[in-house]
Amino acid sequence: MAGLADELNFEDGSRFIPLDVSYRWPFKEKSHHVMERLEKSKWAILAAVVFTPLFMWLVLYKAVPAIAVYSVDTLPHNVINQMGEQSFTVIKKLALDPSELPIEQQAKVQAHFKSMLNALSLDQSVYRLSFYKSDSFGANAFALPHGRIVVTDELANLLADKPNALKAVLLHEMGHVVHQHSVRITAQSAASTIVLAVVFGDLEGVAEIALGTGASFAQQGFSRDMEREADSFALTQLESLGYSSNDFADAIEALQKSHTSENEHLEKVNNLLEYLSSHPSAQERIDNARK
Ligand SMILES: [Zn+2]
Repeated sequence: MAGLADELNFEDGSRFIPLDVSYRWPFKEKSHHVMERLEKSKWAILAAVVFTPLFMWLVLYKAVPAIAVYSVDTLPHNVINQMGEQSFTVIKKLALDPSELPIEQQAKVQAHFKSMLNALSLDQSVYRLSFYKSDSFGANAFALPHGRIVVTDELANLLADKPNALKAVLLHEMGHVVHQHSVRITAQSAASTIVLAVVFGDLEGVAEIALGTGASFAQQGFSRDMEREADSFALTQLESLGYSSNDFADAIEALQKSHTSENEHLEKVNNLLEYLSSHPSAQERIDNARK
């Protein structure tokens, strides 16, 4: 390495360190000179500074997600089921309470859900809908990898007089399951962890972190592209089932209103940052649907 003396190590363990740090032994391999020239070259250093982050970005944000799309099909069903059930158990414990919705209201939404599954020829034993009350989620809906879709009481009540808007939300969640977004998120975060560990040399941590990725999908949420994919699934299917994409826009509008009115100012700023990082803006989604 430039600036460091070229040591000689002897068999008895003794060492000779030249005082002149630039002195190089003529009998040592040529490859050392190549490395040293690279380390001295300003251009090579500049290129490394620019291209290393670019390379990491390409691997983590382009190559890994692209590979994840193809690899999820090879996952056995039973692994996806386990992943879904385990996440569901944790989320239930942390954030969900038994539903307080009247049975008739639940039955009405369940009937809409079933008839949409039939019309789209999706498997009724895979796609299941449950209601829960949730103080932490508020008006919200989410989908788990194995097809369980949860609608909060708060959302069902918010859209009680707009049944078609609620159908649009259900279709959006079905879109996440159809495109296997949560499995892809999990595969991506596992692969990224391994890539980072290999690049930065911390291989011991890999197994430990890879085992914990099941939980990471719940923390991360979906990417912007996945939200757009689920949105476009919902918009296309709304049209094909004879509803309007305005129903989807109505749902997002109602959600946007409910989420901004119920929060304190500080929380609003935090939510906004969180929202910006992982979701397309609500206005963008409304405009897209109206168009
Ligand atoms: Zn979504």
